[in-house]
Amino acid sequence: MRIICIGECMVEMAPLDNAGTYRMGFAGDTLNTAWYLARLLGDRAEVGYFTAVGTDGVSDQMLDFLGSARIDTSFVLRRADRTLGLYMIQLQNGERSFSYWRSHSAARTLAQSGGDIAATLQGAGIACFSGITLAILPPEDRATLSRALEDFRSAGGTVVFDPNLRPKLWADPKDMTQAIMDAAGLSDIVLPSHEDESTWFGDQTPEDTAKRYAQKGAGIVVVKNGPGEIVVHSDTGLSHHQPEHVSNVVDTTAAGDSFNAGFLSSHIAGASLDQAIATGAKLAARVVTHRGALVEEAVLGNELAG
Ligand code: ADP
Repeated sequence: MRIICIGECMVEMAPLDNAGTYRMGFAGDTLNTAWYLARLLGDRAEVGYFTAVGTDGVSDQMLDFLGSARIDTSFVLRRADRTLGLYMIQLQNGERSFSYWRSHSAARTLAQSGGDIAATLQGAGIACFSGITLAILPPEDRATLSRALEDFRSAGGTVVFDPNLRPKLWADPKDMTQAIMDAAGLSDIVLPSHEDESTWFGDQTPEDTAKRYAQKGAGIVVVKNGPGEIVVHSDTGLSHHQPEHVSNVVDTTAAGDSFNAGFLSSHIAGASLDQAIATGAKLAARVVTHRGALVEEAVLGNELAG
């Protein structure tokens, strides 16, 4: 099984103290999911990342980082006139805030050619993308990506979509909601978070979110809701699942991304929907007890992959 995640991986600058010392890392929603998938699946699957990066040193460093995480980067596009997007985390009175430099990142050019995407997806079983992947693309490139994903699906591939709504990345919230629903319409599995969805789609309950995406044709919709009940819509209708209780939440960064990886790793291994959701929730529960997006400790041991 080959799984391709499509999107943007950024440089992350995280403060180590209050004296201006930062640690450089790499993160981004679809990359976080790829990273956890590679960890969970080991030799049982090949995980690849599709994006565009620069030809500079930091871009090389990012590809080395992905490679060392056993993520295949052989299809990543190189752009001589661009580089990676970057974000910086500020800590003020214990609260984290984020500043972004990503408006001209190389990743914004990832879908200029449908041929590049088709070549990457050739032979893959699963393609994962998100609302952030869509948000960073010019409209014509968004259409190119959609066509490539439609072709992939027609050829038997499974398309997985996390809406990950980020209104700040869109010129107009209406563009966002339209693009998100269009993308859901070409996806087999949709993995939204209810809190975001209620704000921008007016869903009163997680059930509303699940039904709205199911009506667009997704066979499986898993609605995450922080510590709240997870609501699923599948061919057997609606079901409810309690995530693990976590008493010591430290940082919820990548909760949803890691959930997606846990869920998918289990789903493709042939587990039941119940088991796959439990695996996703278990991984996310571990991730939120640590600082940062990519938490080694959360995936130690193999029991999560079952
Ligand atoms: P996102 O990061 O996309 O906003 P959510 O916050 O909905 O996603 O969380 C995704 C999953 O992570 C939840 O379904 C749950 O399994 C787990 N999770 C998130 N926050 C908590 C929490 N406070 N306690 C326990 N589990 C959590």
